[in-house]
Amino acid sequence: MKLDNHPPLLKVEHLFAGYGEIQVLQDVHLQIAEGELIALLGSNGAGKTTLNSVLSGLIKPYHGTVLFNSESIEKLHYTKIVSKGLIHVPEGRKIFPNLSVVDNLLLGAYKRANVHREENLAKVFEIFPKLKIRSSQFAGSMSGGEQQMLAIGRGLMAEPLLLILDEPSLGLSPILVEELFELIAQLKKLNLTILLVEQNVGQSLAHADRAYVLENGKICFEGLPNELFNSDTLRKTYLGM
Ligand code: ATP
Repeated sequence: MKLDNHPPLLKVEHLFAGYGEIQVLQDVHLQIAEGELIALLGSNGAGKTTLNSVLSGLIKPYHGTVLFNSESIEKLHYTKIVSKGLIHVPEGRKIFPNLSVVDNLLLGAYKRANVHREENLAKVFEIFPKLKIRSSQFAGSMSGGEQQMLAIGRGLMAEPLLLILDEPSLGLSPILVEELFELIAQLKKLNLTILLVEQNVGQSLAHADRAYVLENGKICFEGLPNELFNSDTLRKTYLGM
């Protein structure tokens, strides 16, 4: 992990969570240092969305702690968590189709980064020139790939300390998936801290600093991408590939 002598930006310990009597996460732990790109992998139903929901404050855990910037956040309302800089780009993008591209972006700045919205908008347009060209277009009329860029751009408008990208490659064509991962590499160069939740194992491991694998609600692997990718046994055991 980078920055060994700094406390991690995010530290999850002994986390148990689920839906009423249906327990999903069991004793989950995870750490992210500032500037790291962490891949969170796991098959359908492994518990990735549930973990994300706890981190974002949409689900309250049964037990365990989530420290963000050394502060316990697991009991906070999700709006408070956003205001602290933990920004979630949701699966399925969830943009506002009937608003223009620029209005979608400006909504991302709401409250947390409102004072810097013009300069952040300029930065987002620099990263995503296509969004600038299409700024007055209805967001719903853009392609799936462009909508994904918009969702990430909206997340950047909030000046994230930690950006959670939830299955960003879902539903994109192979060419757009390539473009998406090039963009993720670009964000990493800007020293953003990113939790990348993905089913695209190859691309995620190619870009991540470290990886965690969830299986049946438990962390069954944590380590370097190479360890997972280059080991047939680990790949077969944990990822079924
Ligand atoms: P996917 O990649 O398919 O989204 P996932 O790894 O994100 O999968 P979760 O969505 O967290 O997995 O689901 C973990 C388990 O929790 C599954 O068994 C699922 O059926 C269950 N689950 C998810 N949402 C609910 C809910 N609202 N109520 C009850 N059980 C749920």
